[in-house]
Amino acid sequence: MPRVLIIEDDAENRRVLADLFAREDWNVLEAKDGQAGLELALRNRPELILCDLLMPKSNGFEVCRSIREQLQPTKIIVVSGRDYEVDRTSALEAGADEYLLKPITWELLSSTIGRLLPEIPRRPEPRSVPERESVPARIRLWGVRGSIPVPGKSTVRYGGNTSCVEVRADGEIIILDAGTGIRLLGLALDKEFGRRSMKLTLLISHTHWDHIQGLPFFSPAYNQKNLIRVLGYEGARAGLAKILASQMETPFFPVSLRQLPSHLAIEELRDMEFQVGNVEVRSKFANHPGICVGYRLATSSGSIAYFPDNEPYEELKLLLASRDGINEDEARDFATAERAKMVEFLQGCDLAIMDTQYTEEEYAKHIGWGHSSVGSVVSLALDANVAKLLLFHHDPNHDDQMIDKMVEHARALVAKSGKPLEVEAAREGAEIVLEAKVAA
Ligand SMILES: [Zn+2]
Ligand SMILES: [Zn+2]
Repeated sequence: MPRVLIIEDDAENRRVLADLFAREDWNVLEAKDGQAGLELALRNRPELILCDLLMPKSNGFEVCRSIREQLQPTKIIVVSGRDYEVDRTSALEAGADEYLLKPITWELLSSTIGRLLPEIPRRPEPRSVPERESVPARIRLWGVRGSIPVPGKSTVRYGGNTSCVEVRADGEIIILDAGTGIRLLGLALDKEFGRRSMKLTLLISHTHWDHIQGLPFFSPAYNQKNLIRVLGYEGARAGLAKILASQMETPFFPVSLRQLPSHLAIEELRDMEFQVGNVEVRSKFANHPGICVGYRLATSSGSIAYFPDNEPYEELKLLLASRDGINEDEARDFATAERAKMVEFLQGCDLAIMDTQYTEEEYAKHIGWGHSSVGSVVSLALDANVAKLLLFHHDPNHDDQMIDKMVEHARALVAKSGKPLEVEAAREGAEIVLEAKVAA
């Protein structure tokens, strides 16, 4: 049983914290002032110490310093009611491993402990939705543009912000990409949550600017109560954390990633299947310069595929074959096999949000640029029996009328197929609801 020592002069606060730990099967020690805390710590060598700052006999900073000198492996979390940057910095300098603001929830503690003491087994988080019960999943589009934001009167209907999609499903808030649209999402979340803390999971498809540039302007990252998990894959030239931090280095931005007050954890994914709470996620590498993935989320009310940047292999491989002297049949076989994998990945999806940056004519001039044409994506969605397709990652040079025409073209292709695929162009601010499925 892991041991925790709670050093806190306020009896009520101490009891609340002790209860939280006792419920999770921790052995709890309590001290009501700094000096008693220090003695208990040295005698019992707990794995974790929670320490208040303002206490009689020996304040939290002194306690941290003494413990750090004498008990190196013990992790110290300072809990404070005061939100002063100087307190936080001093506590960390004195040897604290983390500084958390009161009131403390178990969720916050649990994720912090998971980070500081990964060897201590954690109980699975309580399921926020009872099993077999399904609530509608909501998908809101905050940024639908590719490449660069294009505000202005020619893009007012579909929107000018770059990639950001919010998914609310099974008690989770999952954000797909952090393009400039994430700024507006941040403001909406702040309004909704008020003083309550939020727990968010941000899935990054890749680190091209149009998918990460909004992160420094995401206001929930500036609130120390919030837990933000950022998940993505290692890039071609550097790790995910390094790339996200580099866009916030001094020449580009005044606040560094490390200075963001929220509990922002960047985790590099290794597996192509993982869970976000009860939502099962699958990833698939895209055909796009560098490392880029698409995600498929399986929620209790349906599945959502998100492939913001991707190019089909058919034309590309043939072009390369003609240029590099590769056998044309081999090129065709490769492309056919890759297409089949994509169809399998999208199979039966309720909603597919797909890169359709180009018209057919434009694509012919941009083979190898890493993006798709409307026609190729409609054909994929038809073969994969997708229920609803959203044309996404609109070209910055396409105005609203142009996107209308692309939707028309897509719908005409669907009509010809006789299949029931629904097609729309992704529009900033739009919301899609996946109706709850009846429990099996
Ligand atoms: Zn992009
Ligand atoms: Zn890209």
